[in-house]
Amino acid sequence: MKQNFWIRNVNIETGYVAQEGFTYGSKTELMDVKVDEGVVTILQPAKQQPLRNGDMDRQGMLLLPTLHDMHCHLDKSKLGVPWRPITPAHSIVERFTNEIKELNALEQSLKERARNLINLELANGVTLFRSHIDVHPEVGQRYLEDVLDVLQEYKGMLNYELVAFPQHGMLRSNAFEDVKTALQSGVQIIGGVDPSSLDGNVEKSLAQTFELATTFNVPIDIHVHDRGEHGRKTVETLIDYTKQTGWQKRVAISHAFGLNDVDGEVRERVFTDLAETGIAIVSSVPINGNVPPLEELRSYGVDVRIGCDNVYDSWSPFGTGRIVEKVNRYAEIFRLTTQQSLTNALQLISGKPIPLEGNHSWLKTGMDASFILVDSSSTAEFVARQSGIYASFFKGNLVHEKGGKA
Ligand SMILES: [Zn+2]
Repeated sequence: MKQNFWIRNVNIETGYVAQEGFTYGSKTELMDVKVDEGVVTILQPAKQQPLRNGDMDRQGMLLLPTLHDMHCHLDKSKLGVPWRPITPAHSIVERFTNEIKELNALEQSLKERARNLINLELANGVTLFRSHIDVHPEVGQRYLEDVLDVLQEYKGMLNYELVAFPQHGMLRSNAFEDVKTALQSGVQIIGGVDPSSLDGNVEKSLAQTFELATTFNVPIDIHVHDRGEHGRKTVETLIDYTKQTGWQKRVAISHAFGLNDVDGEVRERVFTDLAETGIAIVSSVPINGNVPPLEELRSYGVDVRIGCDNVYDSWSPFGTGRIVEKVNRYAEIFRLTTQQSLTNALQLISGKPIPLEGNHSWLKTGMDASFILVDSSSTAEFVARQSGIYASFFKGNLVHEKGGKA
């Protein structure tokens, strides 16, 4: 793949346009971007120079940061196998017990299904995947080994963060040694699930989690679906342990539905603590309203992120693998309708602010050449209208182009 080239005639937002106090759009400038060895080295107003070998003319498409899926399960998707709805289950325990048999019986291997999900998300602008991978006595390291093999095939096309996920409960399934083995083999994050309802002992479950996190010097990302007292106790204990171990900015809570159930002074204290300890909240923005008060959390300064989570698996027959659909749903649920609020929402799926207040471009020389090209006038339109993604670059490599893979 050509390593040094120009991407000519792309639009980059540089500010807002307003009239009588109403911001009615974004200001863009037509630019040429030079990429050398995966890095942006020159950013200049478009000069209409002739194209040389490897250069491309993108004819006024909007350049935006590449997208992140901060919560997926590369080991669980059934993408690629013939349609079937999910089997009934009365509890999370019944669901995950059946899941192993169901996945084992599928017509396609884990590797094939993982590739299908990665390819789908690459085509939708994602080049950073945070994936939880089941690691516990029932499956040992086998899902992890398969996923790592697949990810080797995508070198130079994406980044990933794997989470060692004791889906059947750290204590309940006695997963400590399996999680430890995964961390020893280089998994970057330690996971967990419902220390209260599933493990039945919040302190002990989280003590094991933090022991492994501090021993291996890795961040934590834990699923907490528990509501009411269970949820509140779990979040408060997570905050305490984070402070005690100095794990600020290294802990994330996925789902965190229970944050809806804390009221009054406790709510204010918990939300402030989450912001101060830098504990991130990751949501898959389900349409049934099972979301924490994410905009309120953002107003406290809490780091909120979005992931696709289920994309046709044993847990849900839904999910499109389009992260932009998730941020669009987020904007609709929380009524983000202004140019500024829609623009700022992109950060939930890009990890990068689009700082248009100061009239400058988000893209700077020296940055990785990781971006997407979209058919849109602005970030706000992209989020609100889910505009098409025409090309996706990762560190200078064209990893997806509409109409065919690079
Ligand atoms: Zn999950």
